[in-house]
This record gives sequence, structure tokens and C-alpha cells, in this order.
Amino acid sequence: GAAIQLENLTKRYPGGAVPAVDNVTMDIKAGEIVILVGPSGCGKSTTLKMINRLIEPTAGRITIGDEDVTNIDPVRLRRKVGYAIQSSGLFPHMTVAQNIALVPKMVGWSRGKIKNRVEEMLDLVGLDPREFHGRYPRQLSGGQQQRVGVARALAADPPVLLMDEPFGAVDPITRDHLQDELIRLQHELHKTIVFVTHDFDEAIKLGDRIAVLRERSHIAQFDTPEAILTN
Ligand code: ADP
Ligand code: ADP
Repeated sequence: GAAIQLENLTKRYPGGAVPAVDNVTMDIKAGEIVILVGPSGCGKSTTLKMINRLIEPTAGRITIGDEDVTNIDPVRLRRKVGYAIQSSGLFPHMTVAQNIALVPKMVGWSRGKIKNRVEEMLDLVGLDPREFHGRYPRQLSGGQQQRVGVARALAADPPVLLMDEPFGAVDPITRDHLQDELIRLQHELHKTIVFVTHDFDEAIKLGDRIAVLRERSHIAQFDTPEAILTN
């Protein structure tokens, strides 16, 4: 894993009357799962997108593993950060294997290494490589798509994983199963994970620490599940 620091992070969208994220400071330790939980519209996705440099902060600083990523080269960022989102974000015109191979290719892995890695990732998320590698996203169930989304995020072995409601679109049983797998994965791979949800039960189940957010990502509480449940 790698530690992540957010310092006075602010995002004001063009035309926004108030900032979507206002002056957020947070220290995330290497190897922990931090959950950002809060109501819809409180700025969770905006915060995650700033860490992944998909949008520019209006002000503030982001450090990942001692490196200021404010002006980092995008390919270098892909080595550091994997990203999985609710809708799975798979490219519909690419097969499962091509989707998973995307970032390893981008960062220059050899063909042989990528081929092995795709199989390894499918195994990891519980999909038989022989059955799934040549399928297109539309030929998968929602839960299978989300597994592929997670496999893709992990493919280039980044120390940091950002997950934005990655299990939001699946039925409760599959969701429970994917949550268990994420916990297992975390124990094996020791990634630093920032996980966004509006589901408090999911936050309690998955988090090493939980940041309870109010409007504009104001941090109301940042503590372990045990401490949050007793307060
Ligand atoms: P959450 O992930 O907690 O639901 P978001 O980060 O998506 O919240 O949104 C935070 C606030 O920023 C909301 O008020 C939302 O309407 C606004 N917002 C999000 N994206 C944009 C955008 N591209 N342009 C303008 N406002 C946005
Ligand atoms: P966009 O689709 O908004 O132009 P990008 O080109 O940055 O975004 O990303 C292309 C695809 O790769 C998206 O579907 C996104 O979900 C995924 N992606 C974005 N950032 C990462 C990352 N750090 N690691 C893995 N996949 C990513």
C-alpha cells in the first residue's frame, strides 16, 4: 500500500454556488481501507475523482506515498492508482480480456506478462478465464461486470485502489459475496483502499476506518467502526 494525504482539498464546479468539496484534510495510512460514507451529493465521488486526477482540485494538495500527484504524468498515476466504479465502466466494444489488459498495456507491460495477468485477475475475482475472457460486457450479468471492473482496477498491481460504489448495482446476495471477496483480497494484497458508499452497513462491514461526511464533504467523524458504533 501507500499512504494518501489530502490537504485542504477544495472543488468548486463552474457555476456552483457552493463548493462540492470544501477544505478537506485527511490522512489515510498505507494498507488500510478507508470508507467515505455520506448522503448522495455530499461530494464523495468528487473527492475520489480528484485523487484519481479525473478532475482538477480548485485548491489544495494530494500526496500519494510521499509523491505530490498534483501535476503527475497520467501514465505514472495509472501505475499507482486503480479505479473501479459503480457502473463497472467497462468498454462495451472490448472483450473482458481487453478491458482488463487496458492499464497494463498503457504502462508498457509485455504481451506475455499481460496474458498471464488477465488469467490471474479473472481467477482472483472468481471468473473462469476460459469461459469469460472472450466475452463482451453485455454478455455478463451485473455482478460479473463488477467483478471484471475490480479485476481491471487491480490488473497493473497499483498500491492504491479507489472504489466508487463498486457493488452498488448488484443484488444483495452477490453484493455480500463481493464484499467478502474484497476483504479477502485486502488481506492478501494489502492495498490502500478508499471506498465510497452511501450504505452505512457496508461502511461498517468493510472499513478499517470510516469517514462520515456531511454536506461539502465536511468530515463529521473519522474513526474505526467500533468507535463510530459506540458514539
Ligand atoms: P456524491 O458522490 O457524494 O453523491 P458528488 O461528488 O457526485 O457527490 O457531487 C457533489 C456535488 O457536486 C453535488 O451537489 C453535485 O450536484 C455537484 N456536481 C457533481 N459533479 C458536477 C459537475 N460535473 N458539475 C457541476 N456540479 C457537479
Ligand atoms: P474517461 O473515460 O472519463 O475519459 P479515462 O480515460 O481516464 O476516463 O479512463 C478510461 C477508463 O479507465 C474509464 O472507464 C475509467 O473507469 C478507467 N480508469 C480511470 N482511471 C483508472 C485507473 N487509475 N485505473 C484503472 N482504470 C481507470
